[in-house]
Amino acid sequence: MEILKKRIIKDGLAVGTEILKVDSFLNHQVDVTLFELIGAEFRTRFDDVADKVDKILTIEASGIAVAAFTAKYFGSVPVVFAKKEQPSTMAEDYYFSEVMSFTKRKLSSIRIGKKFLAAGERCLIIDDFLAHGQAALGLARIAQQAGAEVLGAGIVIEKEFQEGGARLREKGYRVESLAVVSKIEDGAIYFKE
Ligand code: 5GP
Repeated sequence: MEILKKRIIKDGLAVGTEILKVDSFLNHQVDVTLFELIGAEFRTRFDDVADKVDKILTIEASGIAVAAFTAKYFGSVPVVFAKKEQPSTMAEDYYFSEVMSFTKRKLSSIRIGKKFLAAGERCLIIDDFLAHGQAALGLARIAQQAGAEVLGAGIVIEKEFQEGGARLREKGYRVESLAVVSKIEDGAIYFKE
């Protein structure tokens, strides 16, 4: 997605060789005009399965806005986001999955309330970044626990030099990434052709 790549080059900040900071339009401040285009692009990429999508799954916090804009292009299906914090009450029943946070370098348990994901539901996973695949694989494991089907994963920025994309594809998941970063070096960001 050319407009996204141009925005990453213009406003993205390379941190070392592994982290890309895009706080000005994706992770802290949200550019809603760009998010509309991102939602429309995911619809184009997943057009063949669009009428099958029952729900969009994502993970708090940055995935939520992307998923919400995307949902508009899939018939405004519900967006369910996995929570990272301990629930204040255990009254509700949850599906859990252990996930190692790449940016925070800590193991956390993500959860989705059982009443928001049912057996047979077909889901699209949407997230802002794909690095080592922990978040997306955690969501896929939760879908599996629920007996729901994952139709694919839509990612805004995939860092190809980390193994998440390969791991997901190896497991048979369809991954559509709007910008694929092949390398971060000396402050420069390189994209896969
Ligand atoms: P993964 O679980 O694939 O290792 O990492 C994906 C998650 O970590 C995303 O949900 C995202 O929040 C965060 N993340 C991974 N790499 C980056 C990065 O380079 N920049 C930012 N802003 N977030 C990242």
